[in-house]
Amino acid sequence: MEVEKIDYPVDDLVRAEKLQLLYHQSYPAIFVSLLSCALLSVILWQVQKKEILIIWIFILACTALVRSMLFMLSNRMKPKGEDILAWEMPYLVTLLLSSITWGIGAVFIMPIDSQLYQVVIYCFLMGLSGGAISVYSANRTMTLATVACLLLPMTGWFLLQGGQLSVGLAIGAIMFYLSAIRAGKVLSHTLDKSFMLSHELIEAKEAAEELALKDELSGLNNRRAFYEKGKIFSEYCQRNGELLSVIIMDLDHFKKINDKFGHAAGDATIRQVGRVLQQVIRKSDLCARIGGEEFGIIMMTSVADGAAQFAEKLRQMISGMPITFNDEQFAVSASFGVAVGSFDLDTLMRRADAAMYQAKETGRNRVICDRYIDEEMKGKRYAKRQLSLIS
Ligand code: GH3
Ligand code: MG
Ligand code: MG
Repeated sequence: MEVEKIDYPVDDLVRAEKLQLLYHQSYPAIFVSLLSCALLSVILWQVQKKEILIIWIFILACTALVRSMLFMLSNRMKPKGEDILAWEMPYLVTLLLSSITWGIGAVFIMPIDSQLYQVVIYCFLMGLSGGAISVYSANRTMTLATVACLLLPMTGWFLLQGGQLSVGLAIGAIMFYLSAIRAGKVLSHTLDKSFMLSHELIEAKEAAEELALKDELSGLNNRRAFYEKGKIFSEYCQRNGELLSVIIMDLDHFKKINDKFGHAAGDATIRQVGRVLQQVIRKSDLCARIGGEEFGIIMMTSVADGAAQFAEKLRQMISGMPITFNDEQFAVSASFGVAVGSFDLDTLMRRADAAMYQAKETGRNRVICDRYIDEEMKGKRYAKRQLSLIS
């Protein structure tokens, strides 16, 4: 199966994920290597010089120790995302050190006069190489470098020895290596593709979630996002006894704009009002298009009049802003209803809506504020309701 290499912005993320996988799954390989070393040493104990075996065991144990320390360190520091890429080189270097200790060590511990023991060592190396292909397949270069370190010194030694059996074993090792190249390519490309696909899925899911909460025309939150996020605001304020303000703003005589200048001009107006709102709203506030030509703002205000003052500023900005569409210029105004208090969102919305309708009824292009605030005076709490016309 041929999978083309995609030049993809998530390349580093995929590489990082593959390395995470290697750090998670290859820890047991250290013990397999040590166990194999112990077993082979026992087999060769009577036929090979003990000093050679001891030196080999010692070097291999050192590489295993360094590798274990690296794994423990990464486990403790838990590098996230692409940060783990800084751990790639230490992983590769310690892996190659351990593999080369096996590969070159095998030549040194090889009893020259016993082909039986030579075949035994050959089998161990082949077994370790097979294990390396399965464990490190997530990274093709790493797999091939490891198998080369394991097999090439012994293969060269067999070729130099000559003789039917030695050359046969060497050819077997070369064929094994060639099939490892092929298998590594297929495995690593398949893994690459699956990692890429999972990233594409995550990105598509995030984009879909964002779209589901956005109003395309104004660029603001949509009604669903307004209620979902707004509930978090109101629950927080109610729990902490803080003031929450809701502003509902409805464009005046919008139908007339549509009728006179066309639906596209109406759309352009909504777009322009959306831009103004995006400019003036603080990051901590929530602003949305909650209906056709109706907008909602939720803000936490430290002073009771904060939202009403903000609404008044917005009213002036919108009524003083010329809308230009297809060489035509016209003006628009909006009516505002403001509700302030420590209530649940539905209650605040109801009050703000009623205030907004009062603003419409009393002449439009104005702000009406419904304040209902717990106040503490002389040690006693009491509630006070004020309905005031701001402009
Ligand atoms: P009022 O001052 O009482 O709010 O009058 P109004 O004309 O703004 O209110 P009304 O509810 O009678 O009309 C709202 C109009 O807004 C009707 C509808 O066609 C228009 N509208 C709603 N959504 C959109 C939209 O996305 N684009 C355009 N161009 N018009 C829209
Ligand atoms: Mg309207
Ligand atoms: Mg309306």
